[in-house]
Amino acid sequence: MTAARAAILVTGSEILLGRTVDTNSSFIARELDRHGIRVIRTVAVDDHPTSIGDGLRDLLASGADLVVTSGGLGPTHDDVTMACVAEAAGLPVALDERVLARIEQKVAAFAASRGTDPAAYDRGNRKQATVPVGAEVLGPVGTAPGAIVPAGSQRIVVLPGPPAELAQMWPEVVASPLLASLLGGAQPRRVLRLYGVPESEVGDVFADLGGDADGTETTICASRAEIEIVIRHRPDAAAAAAHLADGFRERFGRSLFAEGPERLEEIVLHALRGRSWTLAVAESCTAGLVAARLAEVPGASTVLLGGVIAYADDVKRDVLRVPAATLRDHGAVSAESARAMAEGARRLLGSDVAVAVTGIAGPGGGSDTKPVGLVHVHVAGPGVERALERRWPGTRAAVRDWSATSALHLVRLLVRDA
Ligand code: ATP
Ligand code: MG
Repeated sequence: MTAARAAILVTGSEILLGRTVDTNSSFIARELDRHGIRVIRTVAVDDHPTSIGDGLRDLLASGADLVVTSGGLGPTHDDVTMACVAEAAGLPVALDERVLARIEQKVAAFAASRGTDPAAYDRGNRKQATVPVGAEVLGPVGTAPGAIVPAGSQRIVVLPGPPAELAQMWPEVVASPLLASLLGGAQPRRVLRLYGVPESEVGDVFADLGGDADGTETTICASRAEIEIVIRHRPDAAAAAAHLADGFRERFGRSLFAEGPERLEEIVLHALRGRSWTLAVAESCTAGLVAARLAEVPGASTVLLGGVIAYADDVKRDVLRVPAATLRDHGAVSAESARAMAEGARRLLGSDVAVAVTGIAGPGGGSDTKPVGLVHVHVAGPGVERALERRWPGTRAAVRDWSATSALHLVRLLVRDA
């Protein structure tokens, strides 16, 4: 079976104005990918009925088996997606009493919590219960129902704009009999994630390995300080995919840190837990990013003890006990200060391992010898230590983010090689 093809239509003037960052299309695309559906196009349009109608017609004509929309399902006159979808599918709309009852139930609870009169919602409820005849109605999760609408042999999936509502409705979409013939399993793939390798080198190795074979499709994507290689393949091209994966592994073995989607934070916590080691942080330019990222993982508390945000030199000196002479002679952004910060945090918190980050996030504060983006990371553990100096390009946010990522990697490497 060849993969079904999908297109995504994101609606909302706020997206075209740049006020809302469109995360719905990435959610939908990822989910479709998990079900073996290939997204061929994503389009964003404003809230005007003409824009939505034209967008739908274009995408249906583009050869997509499935069009997924987000947004414009609210109770007011300017939310028009459902009516536009009915028109594009050539279906009449009608008030669905059962859907109305479902909405009224939701609205009653909502009105009670706000202390408002449920009757005030009547018109909106009826509007939202007016759906294309023959559609499968989804939810509502909030007050707006979604729908799966047949358009001949094609399907239009209509979802609400609020990302949390959309995500909560998604399981109903993939469970629908109307989509059963389109959904398959995810296309087989190999994933290799590398740290500390230039993207161009990965590209060269890929070329040396002969590039893609018939039935494989490789993407090499750099983000943060990491590179992700994904080799998708047809089931009958597993050997060709394995050839590529083995080649990458042979060449980049020491830089390979994962062969799946697990998060770096989980990998780091898992590695520390494997040694029964606890961790403390001493963060200057990242000011808590390293600890915050670790704390996103449930159960982090068995490893992460805490830390010190040592932004000011006084805190480095008075709390972490970085010697005044070290700060004076080498500066706060130096290998020596990073080392003293890590040792200080380890002593202060009584952890097995401590990681320190100090750098110049910019945009100001750089000099010829210590330019913006310069970062020193130091990890101290039982009888082991490891240091890293990097100069990251980019904005303040990027420098801080990459510094936190490299700090996590340095902890991982220290544990691996200890
Ligand atoms: P509502 O009943 O809230 O009007 P709706 O289905 O009509 O729901 P929209 O009005 O299009 O949805 O969007 C509601 C909110 O959801 C927007 O203000 C925005 O914050 C968020 N949102 C909408 N579309 C997206 C998107 N593509 N990505 C991220 N957030 C979005
Ligand atoms: Mg709306």
